[in-house]
Parts: sequence; structure tokens; C-alpha cells
Amino acid sequence: MTVAYLGLGANLGDARQTLKDTVVCLAQQHTITVLARSSLYRTAPIDAGGDDYLNCVVKLETTLTVRHLLALCHKIELHFGRERPFRNAPRTLDLDILLYGDQVIDESDLSVPHPRLTERAFVLVPLVELDPDLIIPQRGRADAFLAAVAEQRIEKMKSPCQCPVLNALGGGSNESAQTTKGRCS
Ligand code: ADP
Ligand code: MG
Repeated sequence: MTVAYLGLGANLGDARQTLKDTVVCLAQQHTITVLARSSLYRTAPIDAGGDDYLNCVVKLETTLTVRHLLALCHKIELHFGRERPFRNAPRTLDLDILLYGDQVIDESDLSVPHPRLTERAFVLVPLVELDPDLIIPQRGRADAFLAAVAEQRIEKMKSPCQCPVLNALGGGSNESAQTTKGRCS
């Protein structure tokens, strides 16, 4: 079992619903146990036009190898209609591997820790929300990079659920148990 962190982002279509459905989709995999989900954040696009993004980070435990986890991320992106017309194009879903245990991978099609992890408030802030003492392999404490991204616009979304008990149980969310697109296999 390896603990991994995935970064989720969307700025096309019903981004909030897509992120929630993606978490359900991950949880439905028999190879994955979802351990926690950060709050949802509204963030400014970086190096791109288009609408604001919604982002969150999911912490999970998995029996998948990192390569199989990447393949699953691509499959789920496709399931939610991801297209790549040009670099940094608006997207229905972006699913990136931020961390995979303490592994460091530097290959043409896979870099872990994610290369822009420490430069992007939209992944750093939710990561530190989930794990305030998180250590990034070869880079040190995640929270040490927060000051450098303080200028990037990021706003924590209020949960539509006002019940403190449910929010505590659900990590600040009240997502439904079903995806709107049916079972994600
Ligand atoms: P973005 O860099 O904006 O996330 P894409 O989602 O289109 O762009 O990803 C482009 C490629 O980045 C993927 O096809 C994948 O092979 C590669 N990649 C490298 N490292 C990672 C990672 N840690 N997580 C996800 N994709 C990665
Ligand atoms: Mg990506």
C-alpha cells in the first residue's frame, strides 16, 4: 500500500460536480482507499485564459503502481470528457499525481513529486490543509513554500452544508454517494 496525493482541477462544465464525482469515482476503485479530501478552492488560471478553476487535493492509499495510477488518472479524465486542444487549455478535469509515497520519478511522461507542486497555490494550499506537516521528497516541508505563492489568487469555497457534524465527518463536504454519470469503472 502506498499513500499518494492527487491534484484535481476543472474549469469547464459543472466543475464542482465533476470534482465531487471524481472523488466518488476514485473511492469506487477496489485498488484505492480515499483517506481524505481537502476543501474545494476557487483559483485563478495560471499561464492560461478561461474561467476560474475549482481545485482540491485527495489523499489516498493504493495498491496500484505509480504507472497504473497515472493510467487510471488519464482514464478518469477521459470519462469526464477531458480534451487537449492546446497546452493549458480549459479542462473538464485535470487529475495529476502530486506525490506517490516518497518516490522520486523523473521520466519523460511522469514526474513525481509533480514538478510545479511547490509553485502553485492551488495544490500547495489544499495539500497543507490536509497535512500541515507534509514533507515533500527532496524539497522539505510543504508549508515552507506557502509564502512564495501568497500572491496567487485562491479562495476556499464554503461548504453548502452548514451542519458542523456532517462537515466534520465529510471533510467539509456533503457530496452524494453516487456519481451523476453512473458507476465509474
Ligand atoms: P498539465 O501539465 O496541465 O496537467 P496534462 O494534464 O495535459 O497537462 O498532462 C500532460 C502530461 O503530463 C500527461 O500526459 C502525463 O504523461 C504528464 N505527467 C508528468 N508528470 C505527471 C504527474 N505527476 N501527474 C500527471 N501527469 C503527469
Ligand atoms: Mg494533468
